[in-house]
Amino acid sequence: MSGRDSELEEAEPASGFSDLSDSEFLQIEEPEDGDSEKPSCSHNRHLEPVEKALETAKRKRAQTPLETFRLLYLCITDVSAQVWCEQQMVYKRERPDLLPLENTVQLNTGKSIHLARELEYHDLVSVCTTSREDSWAIKLLNLLAMIPVLQAGRRVREFPVFGVLEGVFVVGVIDQLGYTAKGELELSELKTRHEAFLPSAAQKKRDRFQVFLYKCIFDAMVQGHLTWDIFIQHLHLRPEQVLGPQVQEQARNAGFTASCFQDLLELAFLNLTLLDIPVIDRLQIEYIHQGTNAPLGTEVLAYDDDAVRATVRDFLAYWKGQRDPKGVDVEDAWKCRYCAYASVCDWRLGRAGSPTVKSRPKKSR
Ligand code: SF4
Repeated sequence: MSGRDSELEEAEPASGFSDLSDSEFLQIEEPEDGDSEKPSCSHNRHLEPVEKALETAKRKRAQTPLETFRLLYLCITDVSAQVWCEQQMVYKRERPDLLPLENTVQLNTGKSIHLARELEYHDLVSVCTTSREDSWAIKLLNLLAMIPVLQAGRRVREFPVFGVLEGVFVVGVIDQLGYTAKGELELSELKTRHEAFLPSAAQKKRDRFQVFLYKCIFDAMVQGHLTWDIFIQHLHLRPEQVLGPQVQEQARNAGFTASCFQDLLELAFLNLTLLDIPVIDRLQIEYIHQGTNAPLGTEVLAYDDDAVRATVRDFLAYWKGQRDPKGVDVEDAWKCRYCAYASVCDWRLGRAGSPTVKSRPKKSR
């Protein structure tokens, strides 16, 4: 069974996870009550412009990027985008108006190919949701439907994963999980390409990191490291929230009895840990051409847990406000030529301590 949230949801416009894979987006959460960003402080009215600007800058610095962008969680593709250029990932969030249109078209084509593959395995059902808890309940129902299939040694697609990395909640969707002839659990990520050739080494590096993150989170889930109270706490969800009628109906159709959100949460986490799902043994990325669906190549990856965790620590330090965003290193300065933000980029223009500019000798006049 696979469910989809309706777009009627009010509090969280995010839909089910199947619309995220290969194009995951950060979810902008509704501001919490008492949000510190609300304009206030009548005493500001009498400050001089410079003092006022300093105060604003100070207030902004006090917020982490997670707080500034009002995020309760990150999507895995946003963390993996930091491999290409962290500064660019930040600009995409701050200045989406500068993104070229063809990116959207390519993204939509990629999503259609993913959807077609998903439909080979199961039907999609539209479900109306009435609360944020309903929206997350749909993801849990998808998970609950896939666990026994996986346990039975069969293949699943669009498997939702969630977990905590460096204290930050992250979510993602694994394209495909199945078993090899040797019985190893294999993760297969599908990447669709506009061009009919394999990506560059730099693009492959980003794709590999995305897949490594999936393994990190999936393994922690099946090993019982993620518990339902962590889930509730990070996402500010209400365990006692009564599920909407359509969500309850979907749960019944899938063979579960759940009237409130916590019922489903407990079921999902019990099933995950008790049904003895193995950790992922094998990782691969399959590249196909968008225009023809022709395979372009498959890459099998070697996983290095220490290296992955060190990179995660560095990337999430930005999100937690422990450091400023970084642009590309000198050897990757070629990426700036293809970047939509080149004309406004502080890093490239040397306004943010770019090593590219720092290392450039000054012209004599
Ligand atoms: S111009 Fe270069 S450093 Fe700046 S965001 Fe783009 S790729 Fe990154």
